Amino acid sequence: MGCRNRPLSGHNAPVTLTDDQIHEALSSILERRDPDVPATVLGAGSDDLGVGLRYLEALVDGGWMVPTWPVEHGGRGATDDEARRISAALGDYASADLYPYGVGISLVGPVLRDRGTPEQQDRWLRPIADGSEIWCQMFSEPDAGSDLANVGTRAVRDGDEWILTGSKVWTSRGAYSKWGMCLARTDPSLPKHRGLTMFAVDMHYPGIEVRPLVQVNGDRHFTEVFVSEVRVPDSDRIGDLGGGWGITIETLAHERASLGGRSFGGSDEDEGAVPGWLSGLAASGRLADAVARDRAMRAYVLDRVNRFTTARAAAAMAGRDGVPGPEGSGAKLRSVAAFKARAYLVKDLSGAAGMLDESSGHLAFLTAPSMSIRGGTDEVQRNIVGERVLGLPPEPRVDKDIPYSDIKKGR
Ligand SMILES: Cc1cc2nc3c(=O)[nH]c(=O)nc-3n(C[C@H](O)[C@H](O)[C@H](O)COP(=O)(O)OP(=O)(O)OC[C@H]3O[C@@H](n4cnc5c(N)ncnc54)[C@H](O)[C@@H]3O)c2cc1C
Repeated sequence: MGCRNRPLSGHNAPVTLTDDQIHEALSSILERRDPDVPATVLGAGSDDLGVGLRYLEALVDGGWMVPTWPVEHGGRGATDDEARRISAALGDYASADLYPYGVGISLVGPVLRDRGTPEQQDRWLRPIADGSEIWCQMFSEPDAGSDLANVGTRAVRDGDEWILTGSKVWTSRGAYSKWGMCLARTDPSLPKHRGLTMFAVDMHYPGIEVRPLVQVNGDRHFTEVFVSEVRVPDSDRIGDLGGGWGITIETLAHERASLGGRSFGGSDEDEGAVPGWLSGLAASGRLADAVARDRAMRAYVLDRVNRFTTARAAAAMAGRDGVPGPEGSGAKLRSVAAFKARAYLVKDLSGAAGMLDESSGHLAFLTAPSMSIRGGTDEVQRNIVGERVLGLPPEPRVDKDIPYSDIKKGR
């Protein structure tokens, strides 16, 4: 990532800029993108927080990272159209893998702008935009993954505080987060989707224990989090009491919308250009074989279809004032299929050299299987597309109207 040290000035005012003005301003703080530097994917293989932090620090005074947010919260009060043009322009410059900061910027930030109190927005948005505070998503539990409404972590009111007890698992970024967006059950007498509430939990509060889960690709930020009688002030409750499920749906839709895009790597390339991974394969002579060429073209087609699907989902979202919808599940499915096809092809064509850790594409190969699980599994995305996009009959949900406390549990 190449950030220039020149301070940003004069770009704070929420004035609509032309494309030339955007490029001029960005050129004063960022280096141009080197097309030969491959994009990294979802932070895989590195827990270095410094590169992303420096990038966000360079962008925050101009409000370039989150342009639609207000100036005082690290944005520049841009219109959606200007924000899209800024996002496109940023693709021309050297960037950083913002994976560690992704939950804050892409999930918590939009939710707080929608549902947060003015005090919460003042407290949390700017540190998200400038990278000084990292957030993680504490949704999944041992008995609540695809069936997320089954969350069992309890929150019991005690005056102006809540006492949270339970355990979370698969918490990405837990190892270095300052805040966790935590879904907890505030009323077990209600059906499972209705008795849930969202909280912001300081990961350094007494009673929080974060244990690392090392992934097959070597990532060490993945964790399980034990929550033992953790006291959270009511002022850190996000949204209404009992409104946790609505926020969860909104957050997951934002997550799928963001997973379906640039973070899967390679989508900064110019429209119509041959992607780097494909020209790299051709240059290495590995496409001399007709069968290999056929597989490469299949992966390329998936890649292109993914771009169109992602663009369609983004356009649909823009038409709803930035509110993501179920089409994000289609975009996520496409992105996963394209990513896996690419990763497995590169590995297969590496021959014996592919057995070495340092072979090209090894990290992507090890990361690929998780793509079908994180952010909701492929099967669950297909259910969403079937029910909410195609209008097919819903799955039977026998425990939907039963009080959570009466549902038979696995243990
Ligand atoms: C790399 C990674 C990062 C993650 N990061 C986070 C995070 O930061 N925060 C967080 O809260 N969670 C996170 N998760 C958890 C993730 O959201 C869950 O793993 C996922 O939702 C699946 O839940 P589960 O693991 O409990 O599997 P289960 O829900 O037990 O599913 C097991 C299998 O059954 C299938 N299945 C389940 N229900 C259905 C159905 N109705 N129809 C068809 N098939 C079904 C699933 O597709 C899957 O194949 C992460 C997971 C991974 C792998």
